[in-house]
Amino acid sequence: MSAIGIDLGTTNSCVAVVEGGSPEVIANAEGERTTPSVAAFTKDGERIVGTTALRQMAMNPGRTISSVKRHMGTNWRAGIDGREFSPQEISAMILRKLRTDAESFLGSEVRDAVITVPAYFNDMQRNATKDAGTIAGLNVLRIINEPTAAALAYGLDHGDAQMVMVYDLGGGTFDVSIIEIGDNVIEVLATAGNNKLGGDDFDARLAKHLRERFREQTGVDISEDAMACQRVLEAAEQAKKELSSMESTIVNLPFLANGPEGPAHLEETITRMQFDMLTRDLVEATSEPVQQALNDAGIAASELGEVLLVGGSTRIPAVQEHVKKLTGKVPASSINPDECVAQGAAIQAATLEGARTGNALMPRGGELLLLDVVPMSFSIETVGGVATRVIERNTTLPVHYEQVFTTAAPFQTKVEVNVMQGERPMAADNKSIGKFQLKGIKRAPAGVPQINVSFDIDANGILTVTATDLGTGNEQSITITDSERMSDEEIQAAIVDAERYAEEDRAKRASFEKRNEAQALCGRAEERMKEEGREMDKDEKRALKHAVAQVQRYLAKRPEKMKDGDEAAFDAAIAELTSLMGE
Ligand code: AMP
Repeated sequence: MSAIGIDLGTTNSCVAVVEGGSPEVIANAEGERTTPSVAAFTKDGERIVGTTALRQMAMNPGRTISSVKRHMGTNWRAGIDGREFSPQEISAMILRKLRTDAESFLGSEVRDAVITVPAYFNDMQRNATKDAGTIAGLNVLRIINEPTAAALAYGLDHGDAQMVMVYDLGGGTFDVSIIEIGDNVIEVLATAGNNKLGGDDFDARLAKHLRERFREQTGVDISEDAMACQRVLEAAEQAKKELSSMESTIVNLPFLANGPEGPAHLEETITRMQFDMLTRDLVEATSEPVQQALNDAGIAASELGEVLLVGGSTRIPAVQEHVKKLTGKVPASSINPDECVAQGAAIQAATLEGARTGNALMPRGGELLLLDVVPMSFSIETVGGVATRVIERNTTLPVHYEQVFTTAAPFQTKVEVNVMQGERPMAADNKSIGKFQLKGIKRAPAGVPQINVSFDIDANGILTVTATDLGTGNEQSITITDSERMSDEEIQAAIVDAERYAEEDRAKRASFEKRNEAQALCGRAEERMKEEGREMDKDEKRALKHAVAQVQRYLAKRPEKMKDGDEAAFDAAIAELTSLMGE
């Protein structure tokens, strides 16, 4: 029985299998090598997937679902005829078609599969993808990263150790990853992208231009005519594809609308140069994520050994030119950009299954260990609402981390562990992905109990958090529910947000820390006055009391109400109390 590799894409999906030693893309029942990731329900309740679903989309928008990948790992539901479908269920419809098509190609049942996901997918999105596979009757051997799969397809795991950039411009999303290929290990060092940029935007630009030309020529505005718009959009995509290999093309749409003088037709010649001008800013919008990924990986473009192109939109000559300009490298394009991820997944599937399909496909030294990275930092909430980082963004998986925490209040018998994902220093600004309580802590003064918190993220990116009371051995682990997980939109937004607010956050956090320390200092001063009681020198006591009162005056003010002069006076009061305490 063969194991298949599946690229479950936002706009298109692709399935491949290793046969006779090399990965082969499996054509679907319609004879196409990629299948639109579109699922639909007809009025009679029949389910259709792929090109047939895509074709009826304009006529049946309420019962057609596209780009469901954007919703993976979220609470989003498709409501159809009174029933709700989760992103996993819709994805499973697509996976089931790919599986069935593979079965008719292979002439046997297919169960085992490797499915790819974007490198930035978090554990909930990976879990949801795995669940979709299970719903489709597949045994998901592993979830692997799309850029890693691309590198496998190019056989880069057999050559020298090197850094590789994978530039992936698909139908609706743009991802760039920097991966490091070493001895038996492919490691994703950094990822960046824009999940609202892809071939669809190029189609929309050209379609807008065509509608405007039609209006100039015929006086008819078709922007409110859904059917006509859909025809123009489809023609625009077709023309775009033709312009990848031709210098010019003709868009011909007879009877597009009814004009004042009867039926009006659209006939327009588009040159590649015109198309490039209409879409230049879209191509240039890929520069920033490229730079960000290089920065995050800590390397210069000149250190890249290879640049791989993935995604149908990298067939656009202007995109290839731009990548060359950005990296100084001629990108590799010997494998179809819309097929190489599925091919890499098939290679991994065959490797995992132990199917010795020929040495050329086996990584040196046996099974290839695939390493991924954490897409967003993990932290837990500690005193003062601070997000204490536990695992940094872009840390390589699998990862185990543990740290001992303690209680903040005297005789505390339970602690709440609030697990968060995000880049901001204050807990409230991050996304809480799960909470649990550890109870039964022995009564003790603050700071005495020892609570070990461990984070484990496995090779599939799935997270388990465990808290153990070292005093009693009591243990609690977290179960993170789907509803609490972070969507990739939220991830991207959080990264942008974090960068924008970085400075503000640093100041806020410094102020919180100062206040926490000042509060503790006052506590120690009061404790000392109580302990030493009458033995304390009167003047010293008076001075200490006064200094405590001064500090508390500012502590009573809310941070946002503090003025510049107040901060300086607060600092002076803290300095005075610190020196009186001899600290
Ligand atoms: P993917 O999601 O990787 O399959 O990419 C799909 C996108 O690639 C769609 O926007 C297609 O219109 C686009 N695409 C496919 N073939 C070509 C081509 N020859 N030239 C330009 N874009 C293409």
